[in-house]
Amino acid sequence: MTQAHGYAATSPTTPLAPFSFERRAPGPQDVAIDILHCGVCHSDLHTARNEWQNTVYPSVPGHEIVGRVTAVGDLVSKFRPGDIVGVGCMVDSCQHCAPCDDGLEQYCDNGFTGTYNGPAQGTGANTFGGYSDHIVVREQFVLRVSHGEADLAAVAPLLCAGITTYSPLRQWKVGPGHKVGIVGLGGLGHMGVKIAAAMGARVVLFTTSPDKREDALRLGAHEVVVSKNPDEMAAHAGSFDFILNTVAAPHDLDAFLVLLKLDGTMTLVGAPASPHPSPTVFNLIMKRRRIAGSLIGGIRETQEMLDFCAEHGIVSDIEPIRIEDIETAYERMLRSDVKYRFVIDMDSLRHGAAASSVPA
Ligand code: NAP
Ligand code: ZN
Repeated sequence: MTQAHGYAATSPTTPLAPFSFERRAPGPQDVAIDILHCGVCHSDLHTARNEWQNTVYPSVPGHEIVGRVTAVGDLVSKFRPGDIVGVGCMVDSCQHCAPCDDGLEQYCDNGFTGTYNGPAQGTGANTFGGYSDHIVVREQFVLRVSHGEADLAAVAPLLCAGITTYSPLRQWKVGPGHKVGIVGLGGLGHMGVKIAAAMGARVVLFTTSPDKREDALRLGAHEVVVSKNPDEMAAHAGSFDFILNTVAAPHDLDAFLVLLKLDGTMTLVGAPASPHPSPTVFNLIMKRRRIAGSLIGGIRETQEMLDFCAEHGIVSDIEPIRIEDIETAYERMLRSDVKYRFVIDMDSLRHGAAASSVPA
């Protein structure tokens, strides 16, 4: 066992605060990692505040981890001390069901082990995530990072926001000649814009925040639609091959369904705490449209996404924060004021609290 230090929520209403806990000593198949950076996903907030009603407290969120390997078990062959690696949303799965055999560990029939909020394979114990100084992870769930050292903080969000958008874009074969909508310009949405553009699609960004228009174009969108403006929406009726909806709150899905053309699909990745109003069935049946869902991505595909992003020079646009500013970051996230991912510099945990650095 080693002593770990992090930040935890102890109830839905208590602010995250310093928390010490034990991590297992690395076993033969484990990689021990000092965490350098951890992205702040909206799922962290949903979990810290028990919005999905499944949180086990104390809860140490964080599943967009980049760090440096400090030790490896005897059977580890892919990593050595000193390597820069990533850890995403999963740290284990059963490894013997059909989805695991297909590299789809996120759909493990026996339930994957989340990087935080468990349950650990076998014991069902809680797991503690990346808002902490180090972590021990089974080799199969550790990713190679080939971006340069200067980009490492901006690589962290690829481990969730990157793969969660990459996977459905690949699943629905987005590429040149496709008109693709991305709904919401937050952490996931801004990665969706970059990745869909790199895949060669024509990208239209839907936002509720008119002041994000210029940023969306800079990030790679070809066009921006303010979704609160019915005229702007109507101009795109029946024209999209695919829409990726990243919105973290319940909203009217029909407004986007009618923008799909025949056989078009809208994949939902946003996971609001309460349901969307039911869409109108006629909007689906009249043009054989589909609503789909997608959960992060498998380990093999996450590696593919990291390599794709390295090849295309893609990283996240980030605002680095100190760990003691996490609650301010959450409040800004709730106001859709994220440009476009907060990333915790874990040196701030190692070197103690200092003056607040993030504007409220
Ligand atoms: P985020 O950074 O907070 O971005 C969400 C964006 O949605 C906001 O920036 C805003 O963009 C838009 N939005 C927020 N409230 C809205 C509303 N009431 N109506 C319309 N648009 C609204 O969050 P994130 O980290 O990208 O995560 C987004 C969601 O995906 C969360 O629910 C998260 O839990 C979920 N998630 C799912 C998976 C998965 O595997 N499926 C993985 C990770 C995260 P604009 O200002 O541009 O409108
Ligand atoms: Zn996430």
